Amino acid sequence: MAGILFIISAPSGSGKSTLVAQIRSLVTDLEFAVSYTTRPPRGSEATGREYHFVSVPQFEAMIAQGAFLEYADVFGNYYGTARQSLVDASAHGKDLLLDIDVQGAEQVRTRMPEAVGVFVLPPTPEVLEARLRNRSRAEGSLDDAVLARRLLKARSEIRNYFRYNYVLLNDVLDIAVDELSAIVAVERFQRFGILPGNAAELERLQALAAGCCQAGIRIRLEPVLAAFGVQSGGTGAGQHLLGGTA
Ligand code: ADP
Ligand code: 5GP
Repeated sequence: MAGILFIISAPSGSGKSTLVAQIRSLVTDLEFAVSYTTRPPRGSEATGREYHFVSVPQFEAMIAQGAFLEYADVFGNYYGTARQSLVDASAHGKDLLLDIDVQGAEQVRTRMPEAVGVFVLPPTPEVLEARLRNRSRAEGSLDDAVLARRLLKARSEIRNYFRYNYVLLNDVLDIAVDELSAIVAVERFQRFGILPGNAAELERLQALAAGCCQAGIRIRLEPVLAAFGVQSGGTGAGQHLLGGTA
């Protein structure tokens, strides 16, 4: 595609959807790929907005037609990104944002090594659990078994943090939103020379984005990884591995 492909991944409950919703309203010229899923809608989710909610046979027919750029089984349901999302974003001259899990990100990165990966982390396991509980309660669907499964999976997903170009610690939401906006602006500047404002603003954004790249975030990240029981310095940590063979 002609624009930039941004991939955002995170353990469930980290606040990725919240961040994505804010970015969608703040950043111009960025389309969001609405994924297909076989999981039922949650809370106030509507088909075509958060997801295209489809049946298993419908999803499998799309697989057979080669309609997906990537798809994966996440928590026992299918999730997939339609190739059409890339075609549409390209036709509209927009960048594209994918909110997908680590398996899907791996598939996309193999096909499109130029994609920019952002991994979102909650500040501590306790905060992650609290966010998952609050969300479930708010949606009237608190299920301890589902919660336990998501917490367990968080650790194995976090092990993949080093495969992404950037890591965001979603502690204070406004700061994380600012950092994500800075990443988009700086990547646009680096690739297409699009200036996000005056020189001082560019410098501010570059400093924010640099603080989230693997090298820039390493020291802040160490205690977070330790709390999740994940070793820092996975193969090639500190490098931009999108497109690599890690
Ligand atoms: P995800 O998409 O990663 O599964 P959500 O965006 O649904 O996570 O967020 C999980 C819960 O945490 C939601 O109730 C959301 O309002 C809350 N949340 C997200 N980010 C923050 C934050 N920075 N501070 C406090 N609560 C947050
Ligand atoms: P949720 O059900 O909480 O919305 O999402 C569960 C997980 O599925 C999240 O990690 C989310 O990023 C991931 N996901 C959402 N859409 C897609 C997709 O199209 N492909 C893949 N591989 N994962 C997705």
